[in-house]
Amino acid sequence: MSDRFTLAATDGAARVGVVHTAHGDVPTPAFMPVGTKATVKTVDPGELRALGTTILLGNTYHLHFRPGEDLIAELGGLHHFMAWDGPILTDSGGFQVFSLRDTIARVDDDGVTFRSVYDGAPARFTPESVARCQTQLGSDIAMCLDICPSVDVGRAAVEEAVRRTTLWATRQRAAPRAEGQLLFGIAQGASDPELRRRSIAEVTELDFDGYALGGLAIGEERPLMFETTAWAADLLPLEKPRYFMGIGDPEGVLEVIERGVDMFDCVLPTRTARTGSALTWEGRLNLRNATFARDARPLDEGCTCPACTRFTRAYIRHLVNQQELLGLRLLSLHNLRFLLELTANTRAAIEEGRFPSYKAEALDRLAAATV
Ligand SMILES: [Zn+2]
Repeated sequence: MSDRFTLAATDGAARVGVVHTAHGDVPTPAFMPVGTKATVKTVDPGELRALGTTILLGNTYHLHFRPGEDLIAELGGLHHFMAWDGPILTDSGGFQVFSLRDTIARVDDDGVTFRSVYDGAPARFTPESVARCQTQLGSDIAMCLDICPSVDVGRAAVEEAVRRTTLWATRQRAAPRAEGQLLFGIAQGASDPELRRRSIAEVTELDFDGYALGGLAIGEERPLMFETTAWAADLLPLEKPRYFMGIGDPEGVLEVIERGVDMFDCVLPTRTARTGSALTWEGRLNLRNATFARDARPLDEGCTCPACTRFTRAYIRHLVNQQELLGLRLLSLHNLRFLLELTANTRAAIEEGRFPSYKAEALDRLAAATV
C-alpha cells in the first residue's frame, strides 16, 4: 500500500479509496471540476466547497500564458492566488497543445514547439518546462507531458506518441517539483491493445504516484472506449490512484467507475450550464424549452443545491432566455452538485457492496426522456 493512496473497499472492479495530498485527502471516486483559468467558471471557491468539491483541476497551458506561472508564484502559488485551499491537480498543458493541432510547429524528442492560442507567440513545452511550470503553480498533483494523438491518426503515429510519452515521462520524473507534489504518469496507446499495453508497462515501470489513462474520450466510439478502459485499468497497479482524463457525463462516469477508475474531470457540468441545460434525474433539461415557462418545480426534485432550494425552472428559464448571468451561475451550481452527489452516492454504494444495483438503477433513471 502506498502512503499516498489508501484503497478502502472494492466492489467488482469498482474502488473506493483516498488520495493523500499536501492540501488534504481526496476520497475517491472523485469528480474534479475544471478551473481552466484558475476559476471554475462563475463559481466561487466557497461555493465549490459547499457543493462537495474535494479537488479542482487547473490548466497549465492557460495559466502559463495568462497570467504566467511566475506571477502566480510571486502571489503565493495557485491555491493562494485563487483562494482555494483544497487539493489541486494541474495537467501538463500537453492536451491543449496537441488538440490545438493547427498551432503546432514541430514535435521532436525533446519537446513540442507551437504558437500560443492567445497571441500566436512562439512557445515550447518540454518535460522539464512543464515540471517547472507546475512547480511554480504549486499544485498538489502534477501531470506528465504526454502526446495525445487525435482519434483519426494511424497506428504509426500512435506508436510514436507512446514512445515519446515514455521518453518524456522518464525525464519529467527526474525533474525538480514542488514540495509534497505528487506526479502522475500518463499511458497512451489509443484503443490499440498492443500499444496501450506497451505504454502502461513502460510508464508504470517508472513508478509514479498515480496513473492516468490518456488518449481516450477524444471521439472514439463509446463502447470501444469503455472496453479499453476495462482492460487498461486492470493493467494498472492496484495500490495507485487511476485517473480517466476528460469524462464527466453521468452515464460515462458510472461506466468508468465500474471499470476501476478513481478520478475523472470534465468541463461538461459548467459548459452544459452555459448552453442553458441542467443535468437531472429526469434526463438533461434544456431550459430554453417553452415547456418550462410556467414550471414551478425546482430543476431537480430532491437536489439540495442553491438553485434547487430557492428557484423554479420557470425563473431559471427566464434568466437563461434573457442571458442574465445569474441563470448561468445557478445552472453551473446545480450541474456541479449533480455530478458531485452522483459520485458521492456511487462511493457509498461501492462501500456497501451494492454498486451493480445502484448503477443499473441510476442508468435507468438517466435514460428517462430528455426534454
Ligand atoms: Zn440543484
